[in-house]
Amino acid sequence: MTASSGLTINRERLHRRIEELAQIGKLGDTGVCRLALSPEDLQGVLLVKEWMEDAGLQTRIDAFGNLIGWLDGKDAGKPLLMAGSHIDSQPYGGRYDGVIGVLGALEAAQTMAEHGIVPEMPIEIVAFCDEEGCRFNKGLFGVRGITGKLEEGELDRTDASGVTRREALLSFGGDPDRFDAAKYAPGAIGAFLELHIEQGPVLEALGRPVGIVSGISGPLWLTVEMTGFAGHAGSVPMPMRKDALVGAAHAIIALNDLARSVPGAPTVGTVGSLTVFPNSRNIIPEKVTFTVDLRDIDMVRRDVREAQFRRMLADIAVKYGLTYMVREDTNSEARYCAERIKAVMRTESAGLLDQVPPELMSGPFHDSLAMSQVCDYGMIFVRCKDGISHNPLEYAAPRDIELGAELLYRTMVRLSTGEGG
Ligand SMILES: [Zn+2]
Repeated sequence: MTASSGLTINRERLHRRIEELAQIGKLGDTGVCRLALSPEDLQGVLLVKEWMEDAGLQTRIDAFGNLIGWLDGKDAGKPLLMAGSHIDSQPYGGRYDGVIGVLGALEAAQTMAEHGIVPEMPIEIVAFCDEEGCRFNKGLFGVRGITGKLEEGELDRTDASGVTRREALLSFGGDPDRFDAAKYAPGAIGAFLELHIEQGPVLEALGRPVGIVSGISGPLWLTVEMTGFAGHAGSVPMPMRKDALVGAAHAIIALNDLARSVPGAPTVGTVGSLTVFPNSRNIIPEKVTFTVDLRDIDMVRRDVREAQFRRMLADIAVKYGLTYMVREDTNSEARYCAERIKAVMRTESAGLLDQVPPELMSGPFHDSLAMSQVCDYGMIFVRCKDGISHNPLEYAAPRDIELGAELLYRTMVRLSTGEGG
C-alpha cells in the first residue's frame, strides 16, 4: 500500500487502460460505439486479452464470444471466483459502462499476482459478450450462454443490416457447435463480483464515491386501458362526461404519489407511454392506454404499492364513469446480493473510505442479474456524473473508479484467501 493513495492497485495502469480502450470505436471526444460482435468489439476484446496475458492470466474466447482470463488457485476443484462485466457499448455510449468492471477486475487479479497472493480457488476475469443487447435486440447473451439460459431462435436474430447472430458470432471466433462444452456445470462458480458505474444519481446526491449494491430490482410492467365515452368537446356538459384521459391523469398522479409515499425508499413508479383515442382536440377522449413500470428492491413493499394502485384505479373508474382493464406484461423478482459478500465489502472498506459505503439498489440490470441465478453475487457501484449513462457524456471521476477497483481487489483477496487485502 502506498501511503499517498491508500491503494494497492496500480491506478495509473487502470486509467491508462480505460483511456486506451476508449480509443476503440471512439465517438466524438468522450463517447464510444462498440456494438456487440462488431469489428470494434473484437478489437477491444483482443486488446483486453493481451493485457490479461501481460498480467500472467491464461486466456480464451469461448464459444459464446466471452473473453475469459484466469489465474489458477491452490485447489482446482473448488468453485471458482468470477469477476467482470462487459466491454460492448450502446451505439451512442460512454467509456465507463461495463468497462470499469472488466478492467477493474483485471487490475485486481493482476495486483494479486504481483503480490504473490495465490487464491484458494481459480479466479476468472470475464468480459461477457453482448450485455447491451442493442444490435440483436436481446442482451446478456454471453452470460446467459455460460449459465444455460439462452432461448430458442436466438442465433437467428438479425441486426439492422440482416446479419444473423450466428454469422456475427462465427466471425468473432465463437462457435454454436461448442456451446454445450462452454457452459458451466451447476456449482462450478462459487461467487461473482461486478464493479459498475451507478448509471443513476443516488451516490452523487449522497456525496459518496462508492456504494454497495443491495440487489437488482425486478420491474413490474403493467398496461392499463381506461375506457369512457367519446363526445363533442363543445357540447357535452362536464357532469355528463366519461373522459378516459382525466381518469388516466388521476391514475398517473396516484402512481407517482404511491412511489413517493415512504421518503427515502428506493421505490420508483413511472408511466412512460400513453396512447389517446381518438386523439382529437375537440373530442372527449374515449380510450387511453398507458404503461406502468414499478420497481422496488423490497418485493413486499412493491406488492403493497401494486395493490394500492389497483384499488385507486377502481376508485378513479367509479368516480369518472370509466371501465378499465389491467394487463401484466412482466413481473420479475428482485435478485439480492449475497449478505456474506456485502459484509466483506463493508469490512474491506475500512481504511479505504471515510465511512462504510451506502447500500443502494440497481434499477438497471447487469450481467450480475444472470449470474444471480447460479451463484452468490456482489456488486460495487461507482458514482457517475449527473447519473448520465448510455450517452457520450457519461463520466466517472478517476478517484472514484480507483476506490471502487480497490474495494473490488480487497473483496477478491478476502473471498479467495480468507485474508484481508
Ligand atoms: Zn453495463
